[in-house]
Amino acid sequence: MSHPCQHCGACCARFRVAFHWSETTDFDPAGMPVELTEPLDAHRVSMRGTDSRAPHCINLDGTVGGRVSCRHYERRPSPCRDLVAAWEFGAPSPQCDRARAAYGLAPLTPESWKSDA
Ligand code: SF4
Ligand code: SF4
Repeated sequence: MSHPCQHCGACCARFRVAFHWSETTDFDPAGMPVELTEPLDAHRVSMRGTDSRAPHCINLDGTVGGRVSCRHYERRPSPCRDLVAAWEFGAPSPQCDRARAAYGLAPLTPESWKSDA
């Protein structure tokens, strides 16, 4: 079974993705390339494309609800790592549900993670 997030991407095109600048390559060579971010305030940056009325992260490849991927998945910042897909680890995720609903996608359920789903 492929991971449900690989056929979604809604959260990457729904929320502002803001994080401390030290997660960028300005501080951490393994961090998010700083040129893919923009300054937000004195301490934070946001992923380009997400501080907008119609957020869409610059790293998101594909169409929401179709086949998607993150161009810098291994370097993704803490908000992306912290947003857990609903029921992936046995718990609900209101953020995941809200993002999916905004694109007309049904919420994930525990059944979504069964291999024959
Ligand atoms: S909205 Fe949920 S299912 Fe969709 S990519 Fe984000 S975490 Fe994954
Ligand atoms: S960095 Fe990757 S995981 Fe994070 S919002 Fe952008 S596309 Fe999504």
